[in-house]
Amino acid sequence: MKITLAHGSGGQSTKELIEKIFAASYNNDVLNMMEDSAVVGGSAKIAVTTDSFVVNPLFFKGGNIGKLAVCGTVNDLLMRGATPKYLTSAFIIEEGAELNELKLIAAAMSSAAKEAGVIIVAGDTKVIEGNGGIYINTTGVGFIEGEDFASAKSEVGDAVIVSGSMGDHHAAILSHRMNIKNDITSDVAPFCDMVANLIKNGIEVHAMRDVTRGGLGTVLNELADASGKCFEVDETAIPVSPQVKSFVKLLGLNIMHMGNEGKLVCTVKCKDAEKALGIIKNSKYGEDAAIIGRVTEGSGVVMNTALGGKKKVGILIGEGLPRIC
Ligand code: MG
Repeated sequence: MKITLAHGSGGQSTKELIEKIFAASYNNDVLNMMEDSAVVGGSAKIAVTTDSFVVNPLFFKGGNIGKLAVCGTVNDLLMRGATPKYLTSAFIIEEGAELNELKLIAAAMSSAAKEAGVIIVAGDTKVIEGNGGIYINTTGVGFIEGEDFASAKSEVGDAVIVSGSMGDHHAAILSHRMNIKNDITSDVAPFCDMVANLIKNGIEVHAMRDVTRGGLGTVLNELADASGKCFEVDETAIPVSPQVKSFVKLLGLNIMHMGNEGKLVCTVKCKDAEKALGIIKNSKYGEDAAIIGRVTEGSGVVMNTALGGKKKVGILIGEGLPRIC
């Protein structure tokens, strides 16, 4: 069955769509009240973020737009040292979208939310003319109990750690679009376990960012700019899976500008570096983590290349890969 404009009318079809798909998947006491807004408990320090998801294709190896819409927003809360608590979910659906696909997307959102420990407390559905496209906006709220992490907080001497192999999501989406057959799977995942373990073990995290659109090169430059320091990384220390490595070589891509949806980069106090690495490696999705460099005096991002040289790493210029998230 396909979505029609009647599903966006606000009448009977809308009611059925919301009840059968979204409310059934998200099912929790706050949402089930079906009021005009959700009323929830609070905290002294609250983190808020919002993101819209337009990924093409809707379904890809390793996930779908629904899983992405939960993980992306949850991860942005975690990156400030917040514990994610609540999400909202707003769908813009083009007529012609498949009801069955919508069901799978809502189910993926529900299970990602469960894993991340958040509940979806409010939502909206609009249907517009079009060609079966589905777009999702999620807003997230999290609570911060201790120090918040911030890009400006990196200090000279800090270690730079990434939580795993670079480029997986980007390569998975591009493989799908170019119809290249391979085993590359998107890394889309929530970092809850990893971040909770770092906080619980008293690691002094300074800055933390998820490596998404624009890739590691762009994120490192943003961290360098915000802190007024130089980020020096070692090319050979940056983890890349063998499949992605050959994919990158084949297409002449730059791994430093390829996005992930389940990898983070953080700076931690030098004395905590090995302990932090061990904690990340022992956390869910962190087994391939590595220390890739250090924060030094200066500015920008410098890479010590595999061949023994030094080169500057810039931010992504141009459009990159459109609609990757
Ligand atoms: Mg982010």
